[in-house]
Amino acid sequence: MIIKSVKAWAIKDSRNETTIEVSVNGCKASSPSGKSTGKYESKPYHKNIEWNLKFLNSWNELIEVSAFDDLKKIEKFIVKKAGLKDAKEFGANALFAFESAILKALAKEERKELWQVVNEKAKKFPTPVGNVIGGGLHSSNKDRPEFQEFLLIPEGKTFKKKFKIMQSAHKEIKKIIKSKKKNDEGAWETSLYNEQVLGILEGIDDVQIGIDVASSSFFKNGKYSYGKRVLSRRHQIDYINSLIEKFGVFYLEDPLDEEDFSGFSMVKKEGLVVGDDLTASHLSRTKKALKMKSINAMIIKPNQNGSLLEISELFKFCKKNGVKTVMSHRSGETMDNALADYAFAFGADFIKTGVSTKWRESKLKRMCEIERKVSNK
Ligand code: PEP
Ligand code: MG
Repeated sequence: MIIKSVKAWAIKDSRNETTIEVSVNGCKASSPSGKSTGKYESKPYHKNIEWNLKFLNSWNELIEVSAFDDLKKIEKFIVKKAGLKDAKEFGANALFAFESAILKALAKEERKELWQVVNEKAKKFPTPVGNVIGGGLHSSNKDRPEFQEFLLIPEGKTFKKKFKIMQSAHKEIKKIIKSKKKNDEGAWETSLYNEQVLGILEGIDDVQIGIDVASSSFFKNGKYSYGKRVLSRRHQIDYINSLIEKFGVFYLEDPLDEEDFSGFSMVKKEGLVVGDDLTASHLSRTKKALKMKSINAMIIKPNQNGSLLEISELFKFCKKNGVKTVMSHRSGETMDNALADYAFAFGADFIKTGVSTKWRESKLKRMCEIERKVSNK
C-alpha cells in the first residue's frame, strides 16, 4: 500500500478535551488522552497540536507500507524531516494516531482485520479489567475515596462471558452504593472511603478485586496524603500490604509514587503489582522496574509512548520476562476501538477499558466481535 493521502484535524474526546484524529487513504484513527498523566510519559505533541496538524497535513511522501515493521520507514522519515532525536519526540498522540491510521489503511487494502496486519497468528484473548467505582483525580466529588479506580477482574471461559459478568456487577454496585453519577470512565462516583468500597466489592461474585491507587496524585512532600491522615512511605507500604491481606486484593496498580522503584518491590506479590506511571510504557523504565523487582505486571498505553514499534517491543520484552501485560485505555477516550485489535494482536494478558459508556463499550464490543469471528473460522 502506498500512502497517498494524509489528513489530520482536532476532535473532542469523551471529556470534551481536544485530541487528534488522522486519516490515511481515507481510514481514520484517533488518540485518547489522560488526566492522571505520568511524569515519564512522552509528550502528546511536538510543540503543540497545531504544529503536528500542519506537519501531517503537508505530508506528500509516497511511502510504501506492506507490513507492520514498515512503520520503521515512517518513523525514520519523520525524524529526518522534522529534525528530531527520535520518533517519540514527534509527540505520542500524533504519532500513535498516524501509525494506527496507516495500519487501518493497510488492513483495508489487504481485506484483513486490523489485528491481522499486526500479528496474523494472534489467538489469545485478554481478560477485561473493569473500572466500577472512581475516586482520586477521576472523581469530582468533594468527599471521595483517594484511590483512583476500583476494578473488577471477572472469571469466565470467554471474553463475552467476562464482559457480561462485569456489566451485571456494575449494575449491582450502583444499587448497593446508591450512586447516581458516573465519572469520566463510566465508573460510579461515591463519598464512601477506600475500605468501605473494598468491603462492598468483596461481596461480588465471580470477580477478583483490583485497585489503581494512582498514588503519585496524592504523594506530596514525601508523604501520602489521605485527607487528614498522612502516611510515610513505610506506612503506605504497610497499608497497601494490609489491603492484600484483609480484602484479598489481587491487582494493585501504582501503589507507590512513580519514582519509587524500590518501594514497589516491597509490596507483596501474591497477585499482580502493576506499573503504570512508574513504567509509563517505556522500555527503559520497564527494564529498570524488572531489575529492581518492582513489578510483575504493567500497563501499556499506546499514547504514553507513541511508537507502535516500541509498544510491540514492550510486549515481547514482558512476555520473555514473565511480566503480565495490561493494554489500557485513557480516561479521555474517543470512539476508536483499535485498542481491542492491538490487545489481541500483541497477546495482552488483560485489557483495561472501563465497563460502561459508549467510549468504553466500543472496545469491549470490538473484542467480542473478534472472538466471534475467530471462533467461527
Ligand atoms: C490510569 O491511570 O490508569 C488511567 C487510565 O488514567 P489516565 O488516562 O487519566 O492517565
Ligand atoms: Mg493507572
